[in-house]
Amino acid sequence: MDLERGPVPADAMAGALAAVRQPADAVCDRWTLEIVLRLLAGETRFSDLARDTGIAARLVASRLAALQRLGAVDRRPYSQAPLRHLYVLTPMGLELRPVLGQMIRWERSWSTPAPAASAALAGWRPDEPPTASRCAFCSAPVSARAVTLRIEPALLRPPRPKQTARRRTSAPPPLSGAAGPGHPLAQSLAIFGDKWGLEILICAFFGVRRFNDIRDATGISANILSDRLGRLTAASILSTARAGSDSQGYWLTDKGRDLYPVTVAMQTWADQWLPDRIRSPVRLIHRPCGREIVLQA
Ligand SMILES: [Zn+2]
Repeated sequence: MDLERGPVPADAMAGALAAVRQPADAVCDRWTLEIVLRLLAGETRFSDLARDTGIAARLVASRLAALQRLGAVDRRPYSQAPLRHLYVLTPMGLELRPVLGQMIRWERSWSTPAPAASAALAGWRPDEPPTASRCAFCSAPVSARAVTLRIEPALLRPPRPKQTARRRTSAPPPLSGAAGPGHPLAQSLAIFGDKWGLEILICAFFGVRRFNDIRDATGISANILSDRLGRLTAASILSTARAGSDSQGYWLTDKGRDLYPVTVAMQTWADQWLPDRIRSPVRLIHRPCGREIVLQA
């Protein structure tokens, strides 16, 4: 089965989304990604992190504490009176560099003007070669078109029970804060800045296209799903129109399809580092070489 040809069967989709939810819960948060970006750039002090990200101190503290619990950040005292700490990424945290690197690669490909200046401030130089989105085994590009799916029956999960329609009771939670133009992750934060964007993208890649099908597969409430699909469509990542097709649904654009290496990097990181890792029954095979996909470092 090929990417976007789906839909992937419901029990395979349930397993794939359970696997995706783990990295989404761990790092898909606007403030977490901003802080990790600064830590990757070499910042270590709380005051520098708060100043350079512009994030409120209580949010910096809560995200650093969550990253410590996760095992991605280590806190080391550097002064006893007053007691002060440095924050450094552990090997698990450092391995988020390819994830952020893929986001920056995508931003540079699809932003006008390119976010070069502030990406440099965050540690990625404008002249630095883009993060590779090539196969670690055969070096051919790992675009969404070069991927085929293999389903492992042993890893299937029962699909979620269908939701009954519920009345809308509240507005969807906003994506917190707005990253201004020129921010190195301006567009990425609008997708990966909360835990839902990654699940919706995986649905699109696996051919689950219709609103009710996405809602049933993910369990995302209708008002949040409607809001996020609207944002992804406005950002030209999804489109409701597709040439030569009269079926309804949300289709990836070329810009959306180019987010594929971000989702691969995220899952590779999760497979390697997250405890109690749920393995996706939908394995991603690189068509040119037939190996399971691993991106070049
Ligand atoms: Zn390959």
